[in-house]
Amino acid sequence: MTFETREQEETIELGRRLGKVLTKGTIIGFFGDLGSGKTTMIKGVAQGLGVTELVKSPSFVVVTEYKGRLPVYHIDLYRIANSNELPEIGFEQNLYGEGISLIEWAERAGNLLPADAIKVKFEITNHDQRRITISNFNQLI
Ligand code: ADP
Ligand code: MG
Repeated sequence: MTFETREQEETIELGRRLGKVLTKGTIIGFFGDLGSGKTTMIKGVAQGLGVTELVKSPSFVVVTEYKGRLPVYHIDLYRIANSNELPEIGFEQNLYGEGISLIEWAERAGNLLPADAIKVKFEITNHDQRRITISNFNQLI
């Protein structure tokens, strides 16, 4: 399923809609270049899950936990060189919990990203435009 958003708010709204329908244990990997909109969409997903705290890009932390209608784990692999480092950060422990795992820079998780994870891929098509492709979307509806 592919969406085109024309401004930041549309990406947040898409995230909100997604967040509202997620069920416990769901893992979502976000793929795409720096500035393509991963954190922006995650803000919306968290809002849709009832998180009231402000979600931001963590500067040094890899995993940030938020409280929504389910626990939300924002995992940002930006500072991870490759998947060899993941056991150190307890990557898999978070994934198989009761919460929702939102993984930024999911390409760095390599094959530790479960096959049934939802994948959200971002492409910058223009200054304020993004093409957002969600795979395994049928799991959600
Ligand atoms: P990433 O987490 O992928 O590095 P961010 O979400 O932090 O990216 O940043 C995306 C940047 O692109 C923000 O500055 C945002 O305002 C801007 N932007 C412009 N148009 C859009 C859009 N349609 N969707 C998402 N972000 C957009
Ligand atoms: Mg980011």
